[in-house]
Amino acid sequence: MEVNCEGCAGCCLDWKPLLEETEGGTARRARGSFGDGEADRRVPLDDDPNFVPLTREEVRTFLERGQAAALTPRFWHAREENEGVEIDGYRVAAVAGRPAFFVGLRKPPKPVAPVGRSEPSWLPTCVFLDPTTLQCRIHDTELYPDECSAYPTHNLALEHETECERVEAAAGGERLLDRDVEHEPESLLLGVQAIGEKLFCHPDPDALEGLIRRCANGDLTAADRAECLAVAAASSPGTLATSDHHYEWGRERALAAMVDGDEPARNDDSSWVGPAIREWHRRRTAADGAVPSADIAAAIETARGAPETPGWDALE
Ligand code: SF4
Repeated sequence: MEVNCEGCAGCCLDWKPLLEETEGGTARRARGSFGDGEADRRVPLDDDPNFVPLTREEVRTFLERGQAAALTPRFWHAREENEGVEIDGYRVAAVAGRPAFFVGLRKPPKPVAPVGRSEPSWLPTCVFLDPTTLQCRIHDTELYPDECSAYPTHNLALEHETECERVEAAAGGERLLDRDVEHEPESLLLGVQAIGEKLFCHPDPDALEGLIRRCANGDLTAADRAECLAVAAASSPGTLATSDHHYEWGRERALAAMVDGDEPARNDDSSWVGPAIREWHRRRTAADGAVPSADIAAAIETARGAPETPGWDALE
């Protein structure tokens, strides 16, 4: 498999608004499906078309590194009456009565010019994407998600359409240069294998009252996200069991890294992530439709400590 990513970033942000702008069209796109790979997919409560699900170990690493502010849960609408639980007026997909969820990366609005565009637009963009180079700030680090390193191999192995092909169809160019996959990726977790490893199950549906409504409305609080990260960190692969010790550890770490408001995070390896996300949302609201240059990322992200990216010339 070989891909041409320069000037694209189609799998790192939501470029659907560009399609709607130019064609009035909508495209069905989904990377993180329930159980990752089931043929008939459930509909998520959120509207992120290429959510990046993390494993339990990855969630723990983000917590250890003070990067919990980068993470958010994904829940789904139940497909059938008897597979879900009712919370806040939503029938939420569940396993054995336990609401099921992924944990993945947040997408604040950033001014980006993806899929070969020359002018930037405000688009929901992975917290770790450098909007100036369209490169990943955590590539080749311990935080880089398996899901990203394997993309689009998973889709090719499952014979699903790739984001590369959607970009080619919508914007032209050649993105997927070689589609041969020699081996099925090791991290491909399907169905029950995903439980406790990538698909987490909340042991107490009552604790999610209010959270599910906020999740569907796109206004989760730091405490909401901390609750889900703690359960993910406390999960056990292949079972519905959770560890009280890891739950408490995860919740404490998450809350320490996710301070609402503008003060810095309260732990030693305090992250640029939370303050940068808040600042992107503030700028997007204040911009009133105007789109600034992607260069403002220097003040919003790198000045706060975000790792720089090398640019494409350096990779040639
Ligand atoms: S972590 Fe990096 S590669 Fe993965 S979606 Fe975010 S920017 Fe893209």
